[in-house]
Amino acid sequence: MSESKPAVLSLSAADLEAWLIANGAPTYRRRQLSGWIARGAASFEEMHDIPKPLRTALDRQFRLTSLRTVATTQADRGLTSKTLYELDGGHSVEAVVMRYADRSTLCISSQAGCPIGCPFCATGKFPFGRNLKAHEIVEQAMDAVRLLAGESRRLTHVVFMGMGEPMANYQAVVESVRHLAGTDLLGISPRRIVVSTSGLIPRIEQLGGEQLPVTLAISLHAARDELRDVLVPINRKYPLEKLITASQGYAEKTGRRVSYEWVLLAGVNDTERDAKELGRLLRRKLAHVNLIPFNPVEDTPYRAPDRAAIRHFKELVESQGLNVTVRDTRGRDADAACGQLHERVMRERTVAQAARVQGA
Ligand code: SF4
Repeated sequence: MSESKPAVLSLSAADLEAWLIANGAPTYRRRQLSGWIARGAASFEEMHDIPKPLRTALDRQFRLTSLRTVATTQADRGLTSKTLYELDGGHSVEAVVMRYADRSTLCISSQAGCPIGCPFCATGKFPFGRNLKAHEIVEQAMDAVRLLAGESRRLTHVVFMGMGEPMANYQAVVESVRHLAGTDLLGISPRRIVVSTSGLIPRIEQLGGEQLPVTLAISLHAARDELRDVLVPINRKYPLEKLITASQGYAEKTGRRVSYEWVLLAGVNDTERDAKELGRLLRRKLAHVNLIPFNPVEDTPYRAPDRAAIRHFKELVESQGLNVTVRDTRGRDADAACGQLHERVMRERTVAQAARVQGA
């Protein structure tokens, strides 16, 4: 696939219509094209209600996607699948599709790597690559749509919880959310789109003014600054009290309950003290706590708590009047913690390269 051809989703509606006019086609063809992309078309050629010469011209001029699939893994008897994509220029990102009885959720990446560097995270362990462009984010969703269409399923939810800190790539993330929510393309309600952040306060405040009521998820993981400074290093710049004020400001502006994410690390943030601090921090807030049992990552000192410890922590937090759920541990055997598939493939490539050098 030639990188010199632009991806069709990288064009604005106005630019694509200008191209259509220049190629002697009516502008309504743009909507037809979007309709095919939204239904998971894999090529321009299959868009049979678009005249053949125009399909040929589209194919000559554009790529349907700029993403190249490098590796895929499956888990949970096929209910979870993870794809590693290579981007133009060589960086790679992951996306995970999770299938449930009543919905299909895509966990999407917004950056290649992540500059935040949380010590328990596989993504935070390798060097930051680059921000994704809006169309590269949307293309992950389009690939999921294609995959799910083959299973007679629809993509219903998107969570920005893959690789990267979405708020550090703010413009592209907001633009991609508008595409995902737009009726031209997928028409996914913003309420079914979750944008997570480790706590970039100015961007949280900006998001509240976008008229885009997505669900905000805060990667909290600790309820005292001393511990959060270590687990989520951006806390040193944007400490807890200010973060909660900004998040609750978002909740008030949008009427949306904020989701506070808490990766449970045995002996680190799953103690009675942590549960009490969490209860105090979020009491009487428009908040929901999502506990995530740690998905072990190599070369980190962290461990997952056992089931009894998870249940005990949940009960302690609930007893303080908070709404709590425990996220299921989807994809344990699919390298599903964000960054793990990337890490494994990169390691395999390094080993293969070393073997080639030795054999040369
Ligand atoms: S947990 Fe999220 S914010 Fe932290 S390093 Fe990983 S991807 Fe970045």
